[in-house]
Amino acid sequence: EQPGEASDAEASEAKQAELDQKVLRREAARRRNFAIIAHADAGKSSLTEKLLLYGGAIHEAGAVKARRASRHVTSDWMELEKQRGISITSTAMTFDYDGFQMNLLDTPGHQDFSEDTYRTLAAADNAVMLMDGAKGIEAQTRKLFEVVRLRKLPIFTFVNKLDRPALEPMELMDQLEKEFGLQAYPVNWPIGSGDRFVGVYHRPSKLVYLFERSGRDGRSRRAQGTAFALDDPQLDGLVEADLLAEVRDEIELLDELGEELDMERVMRGELTPVFFGSAMNNFGVELFLQSFTELAASPAKRSTHEDVSVRPDDVHFSGLVFKLQANMDPRHRDKVAFIRVCSGKFEKGMKVKIARTGRTVALSRPQKMFAQDRTTVQEGFAGDVIGLNNPGAFAIGDTIFTGPAVRYPPIPSFSPELFAYLRCTPGQKKAFQKGLDGLLGEGAVQVLYSNDDFVTDPMLAAVGQLQFEVVQHRMKAEYGVDTTLEPLAYSLARWVLGGWDCVARAGRLFNTTVAKDVYGRPVLLFRNEFALQQITGDAAKALGELSPYAIP
Ligand code: GDP
Repeated sequence: EQPGEASDAEASEAKQAELDQKVLRREAARRRNFAIIAHADAGKSSLTEKLLLYGGAIHEAGAVKARRASRHVTSDWMELEKQRGISITSTAMTFDYDGFQMNLLDTPGHQDFSEDTYRTLAAADNAVMLMDGAKGIEAQTRKLFEVVRLRKLPIFTFVNKLDRPALEPMELMDQLEKEFGLQAYPVNWPIGSGDRFVGVYHRPSKLVYLFERSGRDGRSRRAQGTAFALDDPQLDGLVEADLLAEVRDEIELLDELGEELDMERVMRGELTPVFFGSAMNNFGVELFLQSFTELAASPAKRSTHEDVSVRPDDVHFSGLVFKLQANMDPRHRDKVAFIRVCSGKFEKGMKVKIARTGRTVALSRPQKMFAQDRTTVQEGFAGDVIGLNNPGAFAIGDTIFTGPAVRYPPIPSFSPELFAYLRCTPGQKKAFQKGLDGLLGEGAVQVLYSNDDFVTDPMLAAVGQLQFEVVQHRMKAEYGVDTTLEPLAYSLARWVLGGWDCVARAGRLFNTTVAKDVYGRPVLLFRNEFALQQITGDAAKALGELSPYAIP
């Protein structure tokens, strides 16, 4: 071999690597990955639908709803959801807009599933907080916001239903500031609401977009049609004089005294760009999308266990398993593991290592989920969500990678607040155990056991009551097992990090039940905060460090 040839080969290899990295960088930069958080009924499905409409992912309004209503849809693969009228499961949806690839992670609206929301947000780069203009901040907005805060995501606020009487925009901004300590930067500003809703003033373009109620089919793609300058005399003919004068004053005030759009603060989740509109009427949605694609965070570098950062354009692939779900399709018993690509390029059939087990697996049959339609994915880049058929190899929080080992920090679980024994009829023990293992693997619920060897019934530990109902419902629907639930009076759990030796040294503990988790680690259960506070002195010293969470 000639020396010249070798260096030629090296040079072309280096060139290829450079090209690859360019593609990785470009693809990551055009990804916008986000989750919508909202109180039930604020209009999440309506907004989602309109976003998908703009992205051409669906072609008619009503498609999301129709999918919801039909029998075999992902978002109500459980009868329970339909019965309760809530959306429990989350899916990832992808659409294109203006050269951007939008990845929308759906989060459950109900607060009993905030743990699922947290896991989904572990895979998200941005949060969109959707509010009903008449209601402002609601209970679930609060709970979900806390979860977003934990993740320090940039937050974009969409105030919906302006076609109905709404709170004053200043009042809404005030709520954000007072309750969440979140400063607001209105990107557009509503002119009236309800019957007097005329449209929005769009601050970047300094134009007023007039509201037109969309027709019955809701298909008008550009509901914000006509636009005028704020001082255009034509506006005087269209907007009531007092309303126009008020809005002109407000805008002046905002421009002079309001927050500046400081993007660093937006990225830290301290300042939220705010949008007003009406999802149902498809108004303000495109203005939102335009700003959102421009302002939202693209996939960023991620810190690993060892505090090393992995860049999205790293040549080596890495991903995070954030959600496991079984039996999504009632027609095929299946298990899907959802991963978020964190770096490099995902390719169909590629072999990856699982950081936790060191096992190598081939990622076959990757899927992108859109409601119930699954398309096979050939490739993916940072910010993408891919569903993998899960042969039981994955656990929530797993890192998968090629190249040098990486491991992302585990996704912490929430501290359970509700406890109950779950029992089945004696003849169904085997199916019961199978169901329990399945649901545990998905992280649908936590399970503890009594430390008393005579009590073998599993103790479910949950954050919200609905989690119990889901377990019981799925036990019946998917495993054919009838169960009964015996609620327990505990409300707090503390893991004894030092293990059983510490428990033994602590001696007799009053008002405390000692249980163990599925790994056999000691967990103390208390009826209330007061009981926990009673552990003091020598006992407290002997027990050592207590944690409200199971450390993964
Ligand atoms: P979700 O529960 O958050 O998914 O909310 P939906 O999208 O299902 O909407 C809840 C209700 O509010 C439905 O009856 C919608 O038709 C209605 N809705 C959604 N957006 C708007 C809007 O912009 N204006 C009005 N007036 N109603 C809306």
